Parts: sequence; structure tokens; C-alpha cells
Amino acid sequence: MSIVRVIGAGLAGCEAAYALAVQGHEVLLYEQKPVRFSPAHHSEQFAELVCSNSFKAARIESAAGLMKEEMRRLGSLCLEVADTCAVPAGGALAVDRKLFSERMTQRILQTKGITLIREEFTDLDDSMPTIVATGPLTEGKLAEKLSAFTGGKSLYFFDAAAPIVSAESLDYSKLFCQSRYDRGGDDYWNAPFDKAGYEAFYNELINAEVAELHGFEKDQPVYEGCMPIEKLAKRGLDAARYGPMKPVGLRNPMTGHRPWAAVQLRKEDAEGSMFNLVGFQTNLKFGEQKRVFSMIPGLEHAEFVRYGVMHRNSFLDAPKVLDGSLRLCGTHQIYIAGQLSGVEGYMESAAGGILAARFLNSRLCGREPVKLPVETMLGSLMHYLGTENRDFQPMGANMGILSPVGEIKDKKERYRAYAERALTALDEWLEKE
Ligand SMILES: Cc1cc2nc3c(=O)[nH]c(=O)nc-3n(C[C@H](O)[C@H](O)[C@H](O)COP(=O)(O)OP(=O)(O)OC[C@H]3O[C@@H](n4cnc5c(N)ncnc54)[C@H](O)[C@@H]3O)c2cc1C
Repeated sequence: MSIVRVIGAGLAGCEAAYALAVQGHEVLLYEQKPVRFSPAHHSEQFAELVCSNSFKAARIESAAGLMKEEMRRLGSLCLEVADTCAVPAGGALAVDRKLFSERMTQRILQTKGITLIREEFTDLDDSMPTIVATGPLTEGKLAEKLSAFTGGKSLYFFDAAAPIVSAESLDYSKLFCQSRYDRGGDDYWNAPFDKAGYEAFYNELINAEVAELHGFEKDQPVYEGCMPIEKLAKRGLDAARYGPMKPVGLRNPMTGHRPWAAVQLRKEDAEGSMFNLVGFQTNLKFGEQKRVFSMIPGLEHAEFVRYGVMHRNSFLDAPKVLDGSLRLCGTHQIYIAGQLSGVEGYMESAAGGILAARFLNSRLCGREPVKLPVETMLGSLMHYLGTENRDFQPMGANMGILSPVGEIKDKKERYRAYAERALTALDEWLEKE
């Protein structure tokens, strides 16, 4: 068995280190915290969730749910731990972020064969098997080294996080508890707007002051799925009503009607002591967040335990610099896992750690890695990373990247067919691997 390096104990790094240790390898796991923290990381624990606490939909007839089922079959540590600290979130899998990180840290530290080195890793070379899983905020000397290895083919976009408010500061007489379409009981609180209230809020939102992005050029690229609410709102009066503030599937028990617009609040922790403003990622100045978001019914006296922030999000131009096994082209044994490899999302990043570890393990055992079937969600994501693309952008799990299953009109039936096909293909692949 070999000595391998895993750089970064985030979602991808933890999965990679765990998978390699389980295969009997000696893993040197480098983590820079608490010596150095990125602007978004605050805790010393591993697998820190820097924004939302949701791992998205749970049902396998959804893209995120299917991917998670595939990960479970590949032995995901993140999902095993997530199941022990899940919080109610309708049809989604969400976790108590503090418990999740604590338990991930414990599990990694208890795993035989993993040696933790708490330092910033800077000196990337091809002298030993290495998985780089330092995430979208990779910077400093390591970023420079990666840039040198890839001929400068790293890219970035701008991402934003949503604010969190304390539960005790909310006015529940103005809120109602309901999940969209009554899926998932009472996991969400909703702040309903009438038309006049929405328009007043909209006007303040589009005119509020945004924070400066120090050191970066203007008009930065923003990932569509993480569009700041104020930027989305500027597309038109109804843009937010068709986006995160959509009222569909909701009925306000106080009026008996669907609200004109609504803000959903999702529990941040198991006790429900904090709530995340769903879809309200923002780059407004902190004072402006307090002023404008306090216009949301029920949030008039909200205490903001964390304000939304915007940050740079780096990734590699995967089709140009990675081979089909997440290995850096031109190197023998440097692999890239997680968000840095060009996937987008917590679970996609974690899955990348599992896959990089499997591919590396195959080579260490003298076998060429076998590609995942493209019928699977993970195989399709890998295929996306390997497909020539002049405007490559990070990708998360979605049904659109799977090859068609044939003519099935009913969406629910079609998604079920995708899921069945994917899981059968994955099981066959696992038997062969
Ligand atoms: C602010 C922000 C908000 C996001 N919000 C969401 C969200 O709500 N939902 C979602 O699905 N995705 C979100 N993402 C995208 C993505 O899913 C996460 O970034 C995810 O955590 C990526 O996992 P990772 O393992 O690749 O990297 P990370 O989780 O960032 O882990 C990287 C680890 O490497 C360590 N590290 C970095 N450099 C070094 C070094 N040189 N030496 C040693 N250790 C190092 C870091 O300290 C960290 O522990 C967000 C990203 C950011 C930055």
C-alpha cells in the first residue's frame, strides 16, 4: 500500500482521505485551519459548510437525490454522517452544520491510516500521489503552483451567501409554517408579502448600496444559481417573484389565499434557533441588509447572526487540464477533487473526493481506472468535465446532463426511469470495478 497526500479537509478532502484509508493506504491529510482561514471558513472543524446547510432534494427521482443515492452506494462518509444530524427540510436533506462538521472531524480523526497535518500546504509537486481538494477559495502559493501546472488555465466566478437570522428575533404573528405543496410538513416558515408590500420592498432592494469587491475588476461573472437577490431583482419587478420569492404551492392561513410573494426561512440547526433566508444570497452592505431585509414581514426586528457575503470562486478549466480520471494533464499522480475541479455544490464536491480516491486507488493497484457509466449522474458530471467547452462553467447535478431515456411524457415517470437506469448501471460498474 502507498503513502498518499490529500490537501484540504473540506467535503472532497474528507471523502478522499477516508476512501483511501479504507483501501489501506497511508494518508497524510493537510488542513490549513486554524493556522489560516479563508474569508468564508470560520470553524476549526473539517467539512465546514460555508453557506446553506442543505444538501438539496432527497428523493431519488430528482437530480440531487439520485446523485446522493449513487454516492451512498460508493460508500460516502458525508452522507453517512449527514443522516445522523439531519434537520427537517421538507423533501431535502439538510443538516445541523455544527454537528455535521464535528462528527466528520471525529470520524476522520478516528480512521486508521489518516495522519493529520495542520499546516498550509504550498509546495505542490509530482513526487508522490496527491489529491488537491482545497476548494473554490484556494489561494496563495498553492494557487500559483496550480496555475503553473495548468499553464494559467484557472477560471473564476463570483458567488454569494445568504444571511442568517436568529429564531427568537422573528415576529411569528406575521409568519406561517408550511412547505411548498405541503411536501415535508412544517419545515419552513414563510414571510408573506401583499402586492403593495412587495413593491415597496422591491424598490428598496434594487436601490440599496452594494459592498465593494476589493481588489477585483467590475462586472464580475456571477454563477446563475448563486445570483445575489438584488442583482436578480434588477432584471424586473417580477423576477424575484418567479425566483426565490415565488409564492406557488403556498397558502397563507391568515388570508386563505396564496401570497403575492413570500420569503422562505429554513432552519439552520437542529434546535431551530436560527433561520437561513432561502435564496437570499446577497452582496449588499451589512447595514443595507439589515435595513432592507427588515422590511420582510416578521423580520422587522430580526437579529442577523450572519450577514450575506460575496466572494471569488475559483475552478480549473477541467476539459483542458484534467484527464478523464480527475488527474492533472501532464502529471503522473496529481489529482484534483471538489469544487476546484469544476463541479458546483456541496455534494458534487464530496462526490469528486470519492471518485478521485477511487481512480487513484486503481492506479496504485496497477489497474487503469474504469470510467463511470454516463447513464449515472456522477458519470454524466465526469463526462461534462471532460467535454470540450469554450465557455466552461462549473456544473451541479441536473437531469439535463443525462442522455434521454426515451419518450416518457410524465415528468415524474421519466425521472424515475432515469433513476432506475442510473442505479442499475452503477451497480453493474461496481461489480466490474
Ligand atoms: C462562500 C461559499 C458559499 C457556498 N455556498 C454553497 C451552498 O450554499 N450550497 C452548495 O451546494 N455549495 C456552496 N458552495 C460551493 C461548494 O459546494 C463549497 O465551496 C464546497 O464546500 C466545496 O467543497 P470542497 O471540498 O471542494 O472545498 P472546501 O469545502 O472549501 O474545503 C477546502 C478545505 O481545504 C482547506 N485548504 C485550502 N487551502 C489549503 C492549503 N493550501 N493547505 C491546506 N488546506 C487548505 C480549507 O481550509 C478547507 O478546509 C459555496 C462556496 C463558497 C465559497
